[in-house]
Amino acid sequence: MTTGTALNEILLAEPRGFCAGVDRAIEIVERALAKFGAPIYVRHEIVHNTYVVNELKAKGAIFIEELDEVPPGATLVFSAHGVSKAVENEARARGFSIFDATCPLVTKVHVEVAKLAREGYEFIMIGHKGHPEVEGTMGQLSSGIHLVEDVADVARVQPGQTDKLAVVTQTTLSVDDAAEIAAAVRARFPKVREPKQQDICYATQNRQDAVKLLSPQVDVVIVVGSPTSSNSNRLRELAERLGTTAYMVDSAAELQAEWFEGRARVGLTAGASAPEVLVREVIDRIRSLGAVSVRSLPGVEEHLKFPLPKGLKLDDQPPP
Ligand code: SF4
Repeated sequence: MTTGTALNEILLAEPRGFCAGVDRAIEIVERALAKFGAPIYVRHEIVHNTYVVNELKAKGAIFIEELDEVPPGATLVFSAHGVSKAVENEARARGFSIFDATCPLVTKVHVEVAKLAREGYEFIMIGHKGHPEVEGTMGQLSSGIHLVEDVADVARVQPGQTDKLAVVTQTTLSVDDAAEIAAAVRARFPKVREPKQQDICYATQNRQDAVKLLSPQVDVVIVVGSPTSSNSNRLRELAERLGTTAYMVDSAAELQAEWFEGRARVGLTAGASAPEVLVREVIDRIRSLGAVSVRSLPGVEEHLKFPLPKGLKLDDQPPP
């Protein structure tokens, strides 16, 4: 932490903001709108960001939670968080034209769950109850997948058998918390099978690593992200855990001048669903409060790009 009392510098975490899964999900909705025209129905917020959702609403997307809100024959997009088998099957049975914006890194977890289930495995899922990704992953099976949210839950969980037990995790958890919970699972069930690579995704890992570098160098951390965004919440918590006061804002309008009083350096980052335009607006607002310079910290460069589903180019055929 720096000393000094006048607001002076903004340090930007690298990387921050959009990940490859979010880029892809938004592009799917935009392309569907361009190709098929409004309205395009989207099950759940395409990504957990108020600005992104409002922009797409303005272009003609309609966000729904229940499939009976979608008229017959409509085009439906599944959000980046993924859906359960029950939702997928019902959507197909209703005959919608479906585009799946589930992040390929979430789909990878679904595929692994299905494969191991066929081999007779039961699962312990580390994640947050009620999060749509957790509902989607747990809903890949009709039974045999048990949610644990913390170490205390690990002591309580009662799988039907322990010979074939595997761990899966939500992709946007705190890396450190997930490691601690996984260690507790291992201690209770020594034969448990763990993924070769953590299910926590590269974007979550990289943004948390960037906050670990940023936090000790600043007096306050601002995270741009919506309250529903799991990975954004984890960034704010991480900064606090590292001893730096941290706030999460959905937009520049939520910043409060007193947060910066007596603080010279501000650290700024954004969750994987928060667009850079919001970061720029936050920078402008902090500058108006007195910051004179902006500096990016070094960090991992990300070049990952996921392919789009078929049927979205203007000359592609629509999906069956
Ligand atoms: Fe995919 Fe990770 Fe981005 Fe979620 S945060 S959409 S899992 S890349």
